[in-house]
Amino acid sequence: MSIIQPFVIPKHYQRKDGCSEFFVYRGDLEHSHAPGNKWHKLKYHLSEAEKRQARYLATFGGPYSNHLHAFAQTLKDSPYEGICVVRGELQPQLTPTLQDVASCGMELWPSLRRDYKLGVASDVAKRINQLYPDVYWIPEGGGGVLGARGCLDWARNIDHLDNKYDAWVVSAGTGTTSAGILAYQNEADLHVVSALKGAHEQRNEILALAGCLIKSAQGTKCLSSALKNTLDHRLFFHSNAHQGGYAKHSDELLEFIKECHESNPDLMLDPVYTCKTFFHIIQRWRDGLWPYQRTLFIHTGGLQGWRGYS
Ligand SMILES: *Cc1c(COP(=O)(O)O)cnc(C)c1O
Repeated sequence: MSIIQPFVIPKHYQRKDGCSEFFVYRGDLEHSHAPGNKWHKLKYHLSEAEKRQARYLATFGGPYSNHLHAFAQTLKDSPYEGICVVRGELQPQLTPTLQDVASCGMELWPSLRRDYKLGVASDVAKRINQLYPDVYWIPEGGGGVLGARGCLDWARNIDHLDNKYDAWVVSAGTGTTSAGILAYQNEADLHVVSALKGAHEQRNEILALAGCLIKSAQGTKCLSSALKNTLDHRLFFHSNAHQGGYAKHSDELLEFIKECHESNPDLMLDPVYTCKTFFHIIQRWRDGLWPYQRTLFIHTGGLQGWRGYS
């Protein structure tokens, strides 16, 4: 089975006059233990931790976090000890995600939400730093330039498999993954669909982070205005596809997820990111707002998240 597969548009969304083709890069099939984008975001954080000879790696995430899950699975067979600061107090019954994280040998630290927000400046992080020497901290979601750099490599690998697309589509939370993909600079337009409510400003952050990556790869201090323009023209950001907010679902969206699975039996969308991304783009296509011939969806994984739903 190829890792790039045709995507069959669900019946209700098909159009007679359309001649666009859709494909999915099955990131959800990579790395059996840590599929999707999170492993790519961790890659350069791990090499940085090695350079600094850290023994402890620590990070942050919610009780259903794909990032914590990938972090734990990646560290399980590594020389590092892993520490996870979990958003909110631990419940008597761990979520399935946190059960997996704990069984990979990670230490779980509960936090108060308002302290959690402070990240490495939180009281809980300070306590961890007092207890353990040389902790290497990875930001929530594996973000930053190092996280994005791993996604630039990912984009290159995908592009080398097949570069005949005029649009790529990817989901965003922090926007790190999309910034890495944008920095790869192929010919395709990049459509980024945010899973968060009120993310209008994020487009600029994605452009800025992609710019930082390109500058550090080129060893230059500034980007030419021609290059800035190209990035700006290639990036399309959708902030109105959240369906009520993070991890919320409308009935229409739930129906779409089911129909997608019926027309693509081997494909599952995750409950937080990819379902909204596919839904939004396929609706645009149905409404005649999708001018592309060949579109590639990047499936960013996250299927373990379904265990949080009944
Ligand atoms: C974390 C995640 C994203 C968002 O990635 P960012 O780099 O934070 O934008 C998208 N899809 C899935 C399945 C994820 O787990």
